[in-house]
Amino acid sequence: MSKPDLASEVSKILTDLGVSADRYIGGTLAVTSPVTGAEIGRLKEDSAAEAKAAIDKAHDAFLAWRNVPAPKRGELIRLLGEELRAGKAALGRLVSIEVGKITSEGLGEVQEMIDICDFAVGLSRQLYGLTIATERSEHRMMETWHPLGPIGIISAFNFPVAVWSWNAALAIVCGNSTIWKPSEKTPLTALATQALFEKALKRFIAEGGDAPANLSTLIIGGRDLGEILVDHPKVPLVSATGSTAMGRVVGPRLAGRFARAILELGGNNAAIVSPTADLDLTLRGVAFSAMGTAGQRCTTLRRLFVHDSVYDQLVPRLQKAYGSVTIGNPLEQGTLVGPLIDKQAFDRMQAALGEAKSAGGKVTGGERVEEGSADAFYVRPALVEMPAQTGPVEQETFAPILYVMKYSDFDAVLALHNAVPQGLSSSIFTNDIREAEAFVSARGSDCGIANVNLGPSGAEIGGAFGGEKETGGGRESGSDAWKAYMRRATNTINYGRTLPLAQGVKFDV
Ligand code: NAD
Repeated sequence: MSKPDLASEVSKILTDLGVSADRYIGGTLAVTSPVTGAEIGRLKEDSAAEAKAAIDKAHDAFLAWRNVPAPKRGELIRLLGEELRAGKAALGRLVSIEVGKITSEGLGEVQEMIDICDFAVGLSRQLYGLTIATERSEHRMMETWHPLGPIGIISAFNFPVAVWSWNAALAIVCGNSTIWKPSEKTPLTALATQALFEKALKRFIAEGGDAPANLSTLIIGGRDLGEILVDHPKVPLVSATGSTAMGRVVGPRLAGRFARAILELGGNNAAIVSPTADLDLTLRGVAFSAMGTAGQRCTTLRRLFVHDSVYDQLVPRLQKAYGSVTIGNPLEQGTLVGPLIDKQAFDRMQAALGEAKSAGGKVTGGERVEEGSADAFYVRPALVEMPAQTGPVEQETFAPILYVMKYSDFDAVLALHNAVPQGLSSSIFTNDIREAEAFVSARGSDCGIANVNLGPSGAEIGGAFGGEKETGGGRESGSDAWKAYMRRATNTINYGRTLPLAQGVKFDV
């Protein structure tokens, strides 16, 4: 692989998007590109005092923004969507450079941001409450939804900017301010996104819109800054995306001060391939879900249960796909599998493969693929035939490892499917309507996402996104996920001249 000068390209992209060079040159936080392993920026980290000051300012912004009518707040997000459309190519490229996603996935991530902006604009006129029947005459009862406060957003490296947008687009139309702590591995795309937001804000104000400063704030640093968001009394909700280990720390700390949490944590997603499955479609669905993004999606397919009647037809074809998939520089046309994020990810993958072998697994692939740099970690995705769901199969290893297991009984495989601690995404490949319906029924998949005849990976923004059990229980993005960013009030209004009490209680003074 010829070594591209990514640092210069990054600098040009950031300048074009409106980020000043002193934000990403000369600081202490070194950022490397997994494409080459080379350094592409050095950011100044925020101190604890700066982070706390940012929260105070975000609180002031909230006090003003909550009074702006919701459809006007939607106009700001509409403008953000326009800025993202204009900056899509540049920001998508930056995602690919900073995270190692292939070009179409880098662009797809920005498209997801645009989509949620469109969704949030519509939502800004639909923050509906209810009118509720009351038992008292000449009374009216209703439910109203109000802005909540400054919302903390903690995001993971693998969706470095889309996760911010799922939260921020909704939070802002709901009348909140936001404070974002991106992954310390991917702060450059965050700087670029913040610059696009600021452009939209400037246009909003030029149009006569009334928006406070510090409506959306970015704080740069490691987990200690995340902890400041988690512990700060002025932050009523933290939406935290990352590993289950992170959620185990963050969840109880938020609960300890009665703050709300949206936890979007690790997954261990499975698919079932039934005797009636369309195997051509299954092959494509499995390949994308298991190898795409080099296995670094929270919804990546990690466990595959194949019925013994089709095992010998499907698994050799899958092995062939694993052997021939194009691995390499994600910025080049035709590449399907880019690099792992760093050496630690590579080491964890090798350790999991070692454990799988010890547990009787037969491994195809998984070896390092040299791409011209000792500091870049490319691997051939691994397909591991396992005798049982045991050891590493029960954990999320954030790398392209697909554990394949045989099954013969549908009810037994459903039980196995659900017998892991995580509960994010799932799917079944079948043309049997009973199996399909059972899979999405109450006795079926226990995950937050359950699909039929497509893989578990690649959600759209229209649905609520999130999972159960150790995935954290949070929901973001579409459907009624917006309700998490607002507080609900029940209002009862007496328009009569008497004071009837509920439940017939008498209290005459
Ligand atoms: P990570 O847990 O290492 O870090 C995620 C973020 O949390 C970072 O910004 C980090 O600085 C912060 N953080 C870590 N510990 C913290 C603490 N104690 N207090 C406050 N903040 C803290 O995760 P990662 O390696 O960046 O991302 C990969 C993980 O994220 C995988 O497990 C993946 O499944 C998960 N993920 C889940 C979803 C989802 O929607 N369910 C989406 C993307 C990624």
